[in-house]
Parts: sequence; structure tokens; C-alpha cells
Amino acid sequence: MTDQRVATTGGYRPDRLLPTSVIGSHARPGWLDLAVAAADRGELGPVDIREVQDDAVDAALRDQEDAGIDIVADGEMRRTGFFTAEFYRHLVGVVPTPSERRLGAPGHDQQHRLTVVEPIAAPDGLGVVAEYRYARSRTTRPIKVTLPGPFTLSGRLSYGAGEVYRDRISVAEAFVPILAAEVEALAAAGADYIQVDEPSPAIHPEASHQFAALFDAAVAGVRGRVRLAAHLCFGNYLGRPLAARVYRPVLEQALAFGVDELVLEWANREMAELDVARDVAAAGRDLAAGVIDVKSYHLESADEVAARIEQVLAAGVPQERLLLVPDCGFSQTARWATRPKLRALVEGRDLVLGGAAR
Ligand SMILES: [Zn+2]
Repeated sequence: MTDQRVATTGGYRPDRLLPTSVIGSHARPGWLDLAVAAADRGELGPVDIREVQDDAVDAALRDQEDAGIDIVADGEMRRTGFFTAEFYRHLVGVVPTPSERRLGAPGHDQQHRLTVVEPIAAPDGLGVVAEYRYARSRTTRPIKVTLPGPFTLSGRLSYGAGEVYRDRISVAEAFVPILAAEVEALAAAGADYIQVDEPSPAIHPEASHQFAALFDAAVAGVRGRVRLAAHLCFGNYLGRPLAARVYRPVLEQALAFGVDELVLEWANREMAELDVARDVAAAGRDLAAGVIDVKSYHLESADEVAARIEQVLAAGVPQERLLLVPDCGFSQTARWATRPKLRALVEGRDLVLGGAAR
């Protein structure tokens, strides 16, 4: 690999070998969906829904802590899915647009969209700082904060005939200062570990030379002060990917992201392309390897997870560069399946370490 940058020196550093973490979203309790639907019908006030969301974050943190996850996340319980309807509610300059396909086989094209009517802005931020502050008050474990990258966020906005923005890249550029302000506020609030979700290079290999510049512009202000990670996956809307599931064609672009850590999926691809894992580590990045398949209801045993971890290590990733995560968020996975999958992640790791005490 040509890019040998080690991106940052500050921020959170794991204090143990093979730490376990999550991608961000946690399985939503059914009662949260009920409450959100009731709120949409006008049956709950803002205090009511916030109380439900607080309880949902508590449940997500408890599930992770019960499983023994080392670095937890708030579960993105205040967002209705990975694609962050919550973020868009903080935006001015857009109006909601119903999806054009509402019937038939479920797919990402059924998500509602937003149409740009004037330059976008988020006068009060994207809400992630409040998410972090609440989670920080509810757990003593290290917290990873997650938010989507500029190109990912731009994907849900229609720019019409180009009156405001001429193309998708222009929309993504408009998100850069919004994200830069959010990560700056997060760092000021004490967040020391931020993961930006930008699966776009895999989904849009034809445009990928622009991703690194957009990504880096969004996080430049906090580089060196927080641990930065980038999650690149192949999509998980309704449990379905939307890209060719290979990293090799986009690896150079992924390594151009100025981050400490790449967070990549392997379990759902039967551990294919482990030479990519080796190359990530050789390029001076930590690797958070997905060793739990969030799209399958096969519940991995600890032995199966341990075997996957051993494969990553055998491919040439040094133990001290490896973190262990599920492939993607759990927002599209039932909670009853999510909990044993988190336990298997931790127990599989413990098997690899020879049952060493935490
Ligand atoms: Zn993902």
C-alpha cells in the first residue's frame, strides 16, 4: 500500500488485547417502535418520547454490558435506523419526499427522501452531542460515538434540477461544515472515540476518489485529539447489501481516509479477502474486524467466532492491531438474536485469549 499515514495520536486507546465493540446501532426494542409510531400520530409529546428514548438507550447499554462488550455505543436509539432520520430532522433547507416505490420486495429504494429547496444547514447541530452526553451519564465503559459521513448523508437528498446544488458531490460538500461542527462539539464534550460510517466507496467505486477528501475535511478539526475510525460496509438496509461485496477495489480509497482504524465486515462474506485485513494492518491502521453476521439468524457459537478471529490473526494482522466487532449495526436484527450474538463475540474472543480473565 502506498499510504502509510498513521492518522492520529490522541484520543481513546484500548487498554487490553482484542477489545470487543459494536458498530453503533443496537436492536430496537418493540416498544420503542410502538412509541415512535404513536409520536408520529401526535399521541406523545416531546418529553414523553424523550423518556422512551432514554429508556431505550439504557436497554441498549445494558445488553452490551451484560454481554461483556468493552467499548459500548448508545445504540443509535434516537435514530430510526442507520440512515438517521433524526439527523435530517435537524436540517433546514429540505422538505420530505415520499418514496417512489412503496410496494413489493423490500429495498433501500423504499426509503423516504428529502428534496433540497435552499442551502442546507443544521443551526442547532445534528443532535449527536446530546446523544453522547446522555450515554456518558449512563455507563462507565468507554464509548464509541458514531455518525454518517458526508457522502452517505447526501444520498437521501434530491437536488432537483440543480437550482441549489448541481450534483451529489455538491450536497456532500454542504454536509462537511455541518459534520465538522458536530465532531468539534463532540470532542469538546469529552468524546474521545468517533466512528464515521461511510460505506460509499464500496457502493460507488466510480466516484471513490472524492470520498477521502470529503471525509478528511469533515474530521480534520479533531484529528490528533480523538481516536478516529471509519466503517465501510456494503449496506444493510432491511438486512440487504447494495454493493459488490469486495474491498480490494476500494482499499486504496479506504486507506486514504485519515483514520486510526478501519471497521470492515467479514463474517457475512465467509471470511473472504483476508489478505485485505493483512494489508490494512501493514498500512499502519488498526482493524476492527466483523466476526458476527448481523444479517443471519444463525446464532454463532463461541467456537465459531474464535475460529473466525484465528483466521484474521493467521492472515497476518497483529493481535495489538485487532479489535472485534459485528459486521454492521444491529438495527435490522431482532433483539432476541442480537443478545446471544454479542455474548458469542465476547466468549469467542476469550477462547482465543485462552480464557484469560477480563
Ligand atoms: Zn455497516
